[in-house]
Amino acid sequence: MAALSDKIGELDPIAKKLSKKLQHLGIETVEDLIFYYPHRYEDFSVLSEISKLTAGQEAAVLGRLELIASRRSSRQRKYLTEAVISDDSGSTKIIWFNQPWMAKTLKPGDRLLVYGKVAGDAFNVYFNSPNWQKTGSVAPGILPVYSLTAGVTSKQISSLVGLALSKYGQYLKEFLSNQVIEDNKLKELFWSIEQIHKPVSLNNLSLARHRLSFDELLLLQLKSQLSRRKLKEVKAPQINFNEIKTKELVNSLSFDLTIDQKRSAWEIIKDLGRPEPMNRLLEGDVGSGKTLVAIMAMHATFVDGWQSALMAPTEILATQHYRTIRKALESSGARVGLLTSGQKIINDIDVGKKDFLKACSSGEIDIIVGTHSLIQSGIDFKKLALVIVDEQHRFGVRQRQELKNKGGLTPHFLSLTATPIPRTMALLAYGDLDISLIKQLPKGRLPIITKVVAPQHRVAAYDFINKQVSGGRQVFVICPLIDPSDKLGVKSVSEEHEKLDEEVFPHLSVGLLHGRLKPAEKEEIMNNFVSGKIKILVATSVIEVGVDVPNATIMMIEGAERFGLAQLHQFRGRVGRGEFQSYCFLFSDSSDEKTAKRLDFISRNNDGFSLSEYDLQSRGSGNLYGVEQSGFASGLKLADINNVELIRQTSVVAKELAGSVDDFPELLERVEKLGLVDHWE
Ligand code: ADP
Ligand code: MG
Repeated sequence: MAALSDKIGELDPIAKKLSKKLQHLGIETVEDLIFYYPHRYEDFSVLSEISKLTAGQEAAVLGRLELIASRRSSRQRKYLTEAVISDDSGSTKIIWFNQPWMAKTLKPGDRLLVYGKVAGDAFNVYFNSPNWQKTGSVAPGILPVYSLTAGVTSKQISSLVGLALSKYGQYLKEFLSNQVIEDNKLKELFWSIEQIHKPVSLNNLSLARHRLSFDELLLLQLKSQLSRRKLKEVKAPQINFNEIKTKELVNSLSFDLTIDQKRSAWEIIKDLGRPEPMNRLLEGDVGSGKTLVAIMAMHATFVDGWQSALMAPTEILATQHYRTIRKALESSGARVGLLTSGQKIINDIDVGKKDFLKACSSGEIDIIVGTHSLIQSGIDFKKLALVIVDEQHRFGVRQRQELKNKGGLTPHFLSLTATPIPRTMALLAYGDLDISLIKQLPKGRLPIITKVVAPQHRVAAYDFINKQVSGGRQVFVICPLIDPSDKLGVKSVSEEHEKLDEEVFPHLSVGLLHGRLKPAEKEEIMNNFVSGKIKILVATSVIEVGVDVPNATIMMIEGAERFGLAQLHQFRGRVGRGEFQSYCFLFSDSSDEKTAKRLDFISRNNDGFSLSEYDLQSRGSGNLYGVEQSGFASGLKLADINNVELIRQTSVVAKELAGSVDDFPELLERVEKLGLVDHWE
């Protein structure tokens, strides 16, 4: 029996022939095709008068072909066909390339419908390679334009969609109840799909877009609601809070906790005492002291006799966390382990992998810190009560299941992030999460001075760096990924390192850090930087998260325009961690005005949230640092992430539907198909 899941080749021979190419667009099944929306439209819904054409516009004209001729263009070996078309108002030129047969197909006197983009300038307009029809006499309408791959045209996709809808439309089930459709004044699914692909009018297009955006936002939030519900069904260890021991820990610190740190820690500790698993995000700007809050949670867990695991994205960071935890919990008696591909350590003693795993499963280690190796090592725990991940947006549901307990209790889950998530985004993507916010930085931090450095001031910046280094300070240099084939950015970073090491700062020790290095090499370089042996560290974005070197006061970023603002802010957060005034220099060769504005904005703005809002508004959700990594934005094809109103409306509906979703199998199926944000489940 036919079904939407049929392979695209089933449609007709043309589809079969194109199926390999369509696969490049992510279209494998009939359903994929139906939900492959145009990314824009060309509006040819009215015929234009030739005399009123203006360059840049998309227009359709109906007229008489006055003359047509083909010739080889002199410069290239290309065929150029030139024609003139006229209507009652005037005439205009048309050119086509490499279609020499056109001069034979068309003759002067033919009536022709021509539509496409109008080229030229204020004085002289013409059609460049327009579409044409000999027979048409009415405006072609609003035509869809799809994202394409070589060998497939929008026209072909459009006609395949038409075919798919006529053959398979009956299987496209409405998944919203009449009630929801009426209450929210929505159009029906089939109608909306039809109109999004081939809108009869702009008004229809907007209604269709509204309905389909509604769906995207609703399904996303429904998914969150359902995972929230699922978590309520399982049991987590209930951790008894030991106030005295916690006070001891806090008193042993060399500083006072900030109010936000206290509040966040308390929110987490309360969650840990509940029988259902915590699912919480701890969000705080770089340097706001999230690690300490995490340590308090792990400490509380340890004091009550349970294990915790902390996972970091890089070996450098895992090692740093291990040391910090060791130091903070030294007198508590906690046994802390570090597990990465290169290191297996328990309380500063190297052990074999076997022994390490045994110590975990027997409950001998209280706190296990690691990288992804943690979940790849087949590790199991005697009494794991808390899992914390630091800056790990891709931490998925399956991975979470890998960190399992012998006893079967589901551990509490805490995620740390410095990604400032705009309000609208948080509502949507993290609806199933509780959020703790650390808004203020610890007292006494000097704000970082950020400067955009024009190419002609580069030398002056180097002089400044020299002075800082003579004064005992250290410098980070970040290089962007320039060559896309160079996935880890090894090439650009190596070139920059060579330049700085040999030409600019030959008298200083310049280190190089990138993702291709072996863990032991990275570790050594990082150690040399921390100890001050290396003065300038040239790195790819591997250092972006977490590394804490209080003596580093300069963050220099090459190709700054290539990074999102929130990401630049992350880099910047690597400095300004100690007592010294710190600086962030943004280098950019781009003369683009928008770029200049963006960089100017970050140079005057220190608040991560406003930076990510700025990115969201000017570059779209796809460019939102961190959010993009989460794979979250990929679920929204039509919906505007800035549409707070629609997000609110759909969130209300999602909450209403969450309880009764089992009565609507089609809806449930849609939610399950989302396969998006499963990282918090
Ligand atoms: P992040 O939130 O970016 O992970 P960290 O936890 O690494 O930040 O903390 C940054 C630095 O601030 C660390 O050196 C830490 O010891 C210090 N710190 C944390 N909390 C406080 C505080 N309340 N007062 C002063 N310094 C603090
Ligand atoms: Mg951190």
